[in-house]
Amino acid sequence: MADDGILTIEKSEGRRVCPNCGEEKKEMIHESTDKGNIISDYPRMYGHKYKCGSCGTEWREK
Ligand SMILES: [Zn+2]
Repeated sequence: MADDGILTIEKSEGRRVCPNCGEEKKEMIHESTDKGNIISDYPRMYGHKYKCGSCGTEWREK
């Protein structure tokens, strides 16, 4: 687990599901820019993180 407490999971094939509760409706899984995860300095690019609308778990994918 990263220092910021966000779960990091392996990117999975197909449907994105909540690693905590298994929510799989995409309207319940909110994607946002993860400013704590810089994947490129130039051009500056950030990773994405996801938040489950059912249980509130946040995670990012490798
Ligand atoms: Zn969940």
